[in-house]
Amino acid sequence: MNTEPIVIIGAGPAGLMAAEQLAKKGFNVCVYEQNKAAARKFLVAGHGGFNLTHNEAIDSFITKYDHPRIREMVRLFDNTATRQWLSAIGIETFVGSSGKIFPLKETKPIMVLQAWLKRLKELGVEIRYEHQLIDFNENSVTLKHKHNTFEQNYHRLILGLGGGSWAKTGSDAKWMDLFQSKNILTEPLQSANSGFNSPINTTALEGKYLKNIVVHFEEYAKNGEVVFTNYGLEGSPIYYMNRFVRAHQFPATLYVDLKPETPLADVEAALRFKGKITDHLKKQLKIQPTGFALLKMLDKETYLDPQQLALNIKRYPIPITSFRPIDEVISTAGGVSFDALNPDLSLKNYPAVYCIGEMLNWEAPTGGYLLQACFSSGYWVANKLAI
Ligand SMILES: Cc1cc2nc3c(=O)[nH]c(=O)nc-3n(C[C@H](O)[C@H](O)[C@H](O)COP(=O)(O)OP(=O)(O)OC[C@H]3O[C@@H](n4cnc5c(N)ncnc54)[C@H](O)[C@@H]3O)c2cc1C
Repeated sequence: MNTEPIVIIGAGPAGLMAAEQLAKKGFNVCVYEQNKAAARKFLVAGHGGFNLTHNEAIDSFITKYDHPRIREMVRLFDNTATRQWLSAIGIETFVGSSGKIFPLKETKPIMVLQAWLKRLKELGVEIRYEHQLIDFNENSVTLKHKHNTFEQNYHRLILGLGGGSWAKTGSDAKWMDLFQSKNILTEPLQSANSGFNSPINTTALEGKYLKNIVVHFEEYAKNGEVVFTNYGLEGSPIYYMNRFVRAHQFPATLYVDLKPETPLADVEAALRFKGKITDHLKKQLKIQPTGFALLKMLDKETYLDPQQLALNIKRYPIPITSFRPIDEVISTAGGVSFDALNPDLSLKNYPAVYCIGEMLNWEAPTGGYLLQACFSSGYWVANKLAI
């Protein structure tokens, strides 16, 4: 039996899940993390509503991922398994109105992390902070701790180094250069779950929301709310469209349905009543103020023509020109290519080294799907390793 530990680099949700599952199986596990504390991005995710997973039937759930390999992992450790696991570490969850799954209201993100770290400690998992991965080979990993660089032998090496956004959380994607130097196939990192830059004049709209609308791009549609910023738009329907827009070239056009419940013919009929168009928009159609502001940006001829105005209410065009810079977005697409990996997530040219979490080349919308895939890929690797 190999007496060296399983070395995990990166104390994010993917690495911690692998650590927990492997320790449960009886492996000697040691986690190294370059920060002074664990899971900083996990805590950042908790700032604006902590969606740990999503309440959705698994067949529909997995369609949110763009790659069959990650779908397979999420099937094995799914949203139900995530809730059961959270409950087992003492974190009860509830389903929000949009289907997102959150810890109970009184449970702060740090409390979820503390409960998890306590569980890991009980299982004998050691986490060594301020240790940075510098390099690895078939048997050992080179780590830097403060001013010292040393070699650590491993039985298996698991890398959960994260994507490339929010570098200040530690996910700085420096591993991309290391991987390229080792001829491990990677795809360039790109902004995902990103806002769109738009040339639309947002001066009058900045900070304003469009609620209960549907955003269309080609054959794809997503309901929800969007917010205008000084550069363009943000919001869950926008993030959902990232993957489909990515397959095309910028510039592109999104179409917003400001009255998704009302058919085009009924919208037009409401506009044809006697009286002022503005009154029909506000009183009969109850167009929300931000929608009204958008419609007022149309040229006068279009605004005064019931047919043209109705068409714009149902399909208001919003040109988009680019994603936001990588460092400010929620996640990144790109990373380690699945072609570089065996089915158990070990690297084809380093069979004792595994990659998990956001550093793999997959993408999904935010809303619990990202963390779910990180948990699932950590679980997957542990599941494939036998003592
Ligand atoms: C603002 C924001 C909000 C989000 N909201 C949600 C949400 O609500 N729901 C959701 O599902 N997801 C959300 N996410 C995404 C989610 O947090 C990430 O997908 C997830 O944390 C990725 O997990 P990971 O373990 O793969 O990597 P990370 O969490 O990025 O962890 C990687 C770890 O590896 C360490 N590391 C990197 N390189 C080295 C090295 N060379 N040596 C040692 N250690 C290293 C890093 O310091 C880091 O701690 C959000 C992200 C952001 C930024």
